[in-house]
Amino acid sequence: MKLFKLAFSTVLVASCLAATPALASYPDRPVNMVVPFAAGGPTDNVARSLAEAMRPTLGQTVVVENKGGAGGTIGTTQIARAKPDGYSVLLMHIGFSTALSLYKNPGYTPESFEPIGLVVDVPMTIIARSDFPANTIQELVEYIKANKDKVSLANAGIGAASHLCGTMLASAIGVDLLTVPYKGTGPAMNDLLGKQVDILCDQTTNTTQHIKAGTVKAYAVTSKQRVPTLPDLPTMQEAGFKDFEVGIWHGMWAPKDTPKEVTEKLNKALQAGLADPDFQKRMAGLGATVLTQDANPAALTAKVQQQVPQWQQLFKAAGVQPQ
Ligand code: ASP
Repeated sequence: MKLFKLAFSTVLVASCLAATPALASYPDRPVNMVVPFAAGGPTDNVARSLAEAMRPTLGQTVVVENKGGAGGTIGTTQIARAKPDGYSVLLMHIGFSTALSLYKNPGYTPESFEPIGLVVDVPMTIIARSDFPANTIQELVEYIKANKDKVSLANAGIGAASHLCGTMLASAIGVDLLTVPYKGTGPAMNDLLGKQVDILCDQTTNTTQHIKAGTVKAYAVTSKQRVPTLPDLPTMQEAGFKDFEVGIWHGMWAPKDTPKEVTEKLNKALQAGLADPDFQKRMAGLGATVLTQDANPAALTAKVQQQVPQWQQLFKAAGVQPQ
C-alpha cells in the first residue's frame, strides 16, 4: 500500500511537472480564432481587428478561421468540441444565446465553454438595395405590407443577428417575409449590392461603409440612441416601434476545461486588445462600442444568463418554433 501510494504520488508529481512548462510557455504557436460566419462580414471585421490587437500580449499570431453555416451554430459547435488547450477560441455574438431557443439541438450549451469576456456591442441598421422603392422607414413598412410576397429579406441563417433583427421587423410589421439565408452577411451584402435581394438588417460593422458610400439605402438603427457615425438615421423607437431595440454584443469563449492559467492569459490579451488605441479607433469608426469594463468571464456569463430567457420569450411570442 505504501509502495502504491509512493508510486502514485510520483506519477502525480511527474505529470504536474510535465504540465507546468507547457502552460508556462503558452502560447508557443498561433491561436485559432473561429468566427462562425463567412469572411468579409461584420463578425469577421471585428475578429480580424481584435486578432491583430491581441498579438503583442500573446506573443503569437491569432489566425481567424471562418466557419459559417446554420446561423453560426456550426462554428460555435466546432469550438465546443475542440481540444481545450488554449489554441482554439470562439468569437461569437448574441446568436450564441438566440440559437439555444431556435434549434432543438444547437450542438452546444453555455456549459460547453469557458467564458473569456465580452468584446464589443454593435448596433444594427435596416437597409435595402439602392434602387428599392421605399425612401424612409415609414415607406419601407408600407411597401412591405403591400408587397409582402414580393420582398426578400437576406439573413445569415436561423440564429444569426440578422435573423433576429429580421424576425423582430417582420413581427413588428405583422407579416411573414421570404428569407434568403447566407453563411454570413458578408455574402448577403454582396447580393444586396448586386440587387439580387431586397432588404437586410445588419450590423454597422458591415454596413457603415456602404451606407456612407450610398451604395445601399438605409432606414433606421436598432440602438436606443442614434449612432454618432450615422447621425441621420432615426432609431426604430423614434420611428414609432417602441420596443424595437437590440444591440449585438460579442463575446470570446474557449472550450470547457481549458486550464485556468490559459484562460487568464487569453483574458489578459483580450483586455489589452480592447485597450489598443488602433482597435478602439477602428471600432468607433464602425459604430461599435468597446466593452472594456466587461471584458471578463463573470460579465459574459451574466450576459448569457440574462439573454437566453429574454430571446426565448420573444421567439415564443412571435410564434417561432425551434427546429
Ligand atoms: N454576424 C454575422 C456575420 O458576420 C451575420 C449575422 O449574425 O447576422 O456574417
